[in-house]
Amino acid sequence: MSTSQQDSVLCKQASDFLSRDVQHLFIDGECVPAASGRTLTTVDPSAGETLTRLAAGDQPDVDRAVHAAREAFKGQWSTWTPYERQALLTRVAQVLDERFEELIQIEAMDMGAPVSRLRGTKPALMKMVSFFASQAANISGETLMNGIPGNVTTMTLKAPVGVIGGIIPWNGPLNSQFWIIGAVLASGCTAVLKPSEDASLSVLRVAEILHEAGVPAGVINVVTGLGKEAGHALAAHPGVDRIAFTGSTETGRSIIQASTVNIKKLQLELGGKSADIVCADADLDKAVPGAAMGVFANSGQICFAGTRVLVQRSVVDEFTERLLAFVDTLRVGHSLDGSATLGPVISQSQLDKVLSYIDIGRAEGAQLLCGGGRLGGDLKKGYFVQPSVFGGVTNDMRIAREEIFGPVLSIVPFDDVDEAIAIANDNEYGLGGAVWSQSLSTAMRVVHGVHTGTMWVNCYGYIDPLVGFGGTKMSGYGSKGSAAHMDTYLYTKSVYMEL
Ligand code: NAD
Repeated sequence: MSTSQQDSVLCKQASDFLSRDVQHLFIDGECVPAASGRTLTTVDPSAGETLTRLAAGDQPDVDRAVHAAREAFKGQWSTWTPYERQALLTRVAQVLDERFEELIQIEAMDMGAPVSRLRGTKPALMKMVSFFASQAANISGETLMNGIPGNVTTMTLKAPVGVIGGIIPWNGPLNSQFWIIGAVLASGCTAVLKPSEDASLSVLRVAEILHEAGVPAGVINVVTGLGKEAGHALAAHPGVDRIAFTGSTETGRSIIQASTVNIKKLQLELGGKSADIVCADADLDKAVPGAAMGVFANSGQICFAGTRVLVQRSVVDEFTERLLAFVDTLRVGHSLDGSATLGPVISQSQLDKVLSYIDIGRAEGAQLLCGGGRLGGDLKKGYFVQPSVFGGVTNDMRIAREEIFGPVLSIVPFDDVDEAIAIANDNEYGLGGAVWSQSLSTAMRVVHGVHTGTMWVNCYGYIDPLVGFGGTKMSGYGSKGSAAHMDTYLYTKSVYMEL
């Protein structure tokens, strides 16, 4: 897509934002440069070209942002009533609704997801914000019976934890930042967000827009920069009370270590290698597209992607044939190309990683059934990988064990349901998973048998904030959504009152 074609697609606000020379940090309600004056370049993954420059924040910037967040936490913000915070979240929902097109265009240019896909995420985002609005006015402790003689009344109160450090990955920051922002605004906490150096723009833009919409200065701050600089400084900062981290398991480990400085509370949403189990009695009309998009959506860059597709041997041939026909219908293209269903992967290093896993799969003896390379032609400069399918995969192969985070699907045959459950569980991760079967008893056997944080039955990828979503094993702890999510932004104070 040429620059002039791009300009004709971008709305004025997105185009103006993207054409700033440098995207500064957002601290205490203002755009400010990094103390060091250093910048990083950020690339449009569809074009493989520099998109803009970001402030390269580091320790002094994190100090400044944490100070602003602490002051805001202690200040006027602490006097807001639940109803006022609820009204603010309602206003946030209204502004997101109005500015959604601008935000998804920025996100598309920054991380490569096609605008058509991002448009489809609007209901989920709006639901999330209205979930948090409902939670704001629903924070309650308890009055309890007690065993203390005399006139002692006991109760528990809930209070906001304090300053939250939110560390965000690149695979969907527009949406994922709201798991933190929503809970912060609902609970009365404040936050310093550290988006990924590969996709920070929607987080910066949202902070500006929300401030214009009435979020007080210092409540939401953003420090961009490298993980090992700005991210580490935030995770280790003694002024931060809690870290909400979404990212790789490897980074999660270093966050745990850094957080010991002041015993921070942690929420860790980490990697996955989810098993999608297709039984012989599955409705293949649903299972084929469901399993395919369970992997290829967002070009495979989804933590809960069902990349191990376990298929009962008696239907492997039919499933594979129909899957390959479905993959043929996917259209890979520039993120602003309205007809594209899949975009590029995020970066050159992610492209190299995905292609190297495809080589590993071939070398391990798996059969590459489609894809397997980088796209050429008009897309040759972007980081585009063909949607790729491997057949005849066994669960001991690296492509079945390790998180690839790209559009690579592995078909692993199985004979009976017990074997499928055993294969699904034979992995260090436990994030998502699914079963496709028309038998309720088979489906529930699998649901109970698979050790994972989230299971879908005859569908893939629904997430509702009322229900929640989270992982177990090496996929982390601390679910997103549900009342449990809000609870982690609050602490319980036990009160004993003798009258
Ligand atoms: P990543 O771990 O490389 O980076 C995530 C964030 O951590 C980025 O902001 C990065 O700058 C920061 N970071 C890196 N090193 C750091 C350090 N030492 N200290 C503090 N911060 C540091 O992950 P990624 O490559 O951006 O994202 C992909 C990963 O995220 C995948 O493993 C995916 O499964 C996972 N993910 C999980 C979920 C979930 O809900 N479980 C959701 C989305 C993505």
